Amino acid sequence: MADHGEARSTRLVLATHNAHKVHELRRILGPALDGLELEAYDGPEPVEDGDTFEANALIKARAAALHSGVAAIADDSGIGATSLDGAPGIRSARYAQAADDSPRDDGDNLRLLLKNLEGASDRSASFSCAAALAVPDGAGGIAFEHVVLAQWPGMVALEPAGVGGFGYDPIFLPDDADVSAAELSAERKDAISHRRQAFDALMPVVRKRLLDG
Ligand code: IMP
Repeated sequence: MADHGEARSTRLVLATHNAHKVHELRRILGPALDGLELEAYDGPEPVEDGDTFEANALIKARAAALHSGVAAIADDSGIGATSLDGAPGIRSARYAQAADDSPRDDGDNLRLLLKNLEGASDRSASFSCAAALAVPDGAGGIAFEHVVLAQWPGMVALEPAGVGGFGYDPIFLPDDADVSAAELSAERKDAISHRRQAFDALMPVVRKRLLDG
């Protein structure tokens, strides 16, 4: 079959429906995607019922790999406050969700975290990101999987600042910056964030598994 001399890219599915994350990840992955063709995932979202960021990242990667028949990467992320025993943690996206399951947005989540930290002497917190790879075996199973966890330490501010980023960024003061994560340029956040660190650790494994041999 003619291929017109062009090297064929290896497909890789990005298992997230979160538009902010797709956007950030495409920027972050950059040259790590050479030879790989990143595709958005449009299949069903699995129930994220793991107890850890790593378990949930693997659930998402496995679901996308099995649905698409193509290797998939996924992330699961959130913020954890030390004086709240790591809350909201894996519940970060749904922190302010009431028992009636009525929709809540990033602003509701952020305000609830500020409220729950009122009067706290320890405002230290960190963003966590688990990044996972799942490779299907072509027979309905998973041939290979790998997950890594990275953390971005900082503090929860007393009030929001900045309009960049998403989620809890306006109230997160990274230890390695002197402004909130929402006041960082996209390039600066990409260079130091939990997501950057996690995918820096995962992508060599992805490339070795999918492109070497
Ligand atoms: P996930 O889509 O289940 O991983 O949910 C992650 C949630 O954690 C998001 O909805 C955000 O509220 C929060 N989060 C994760 N990463 C970031 C970040 O880089 N900035 C701000 N909030 C984040």
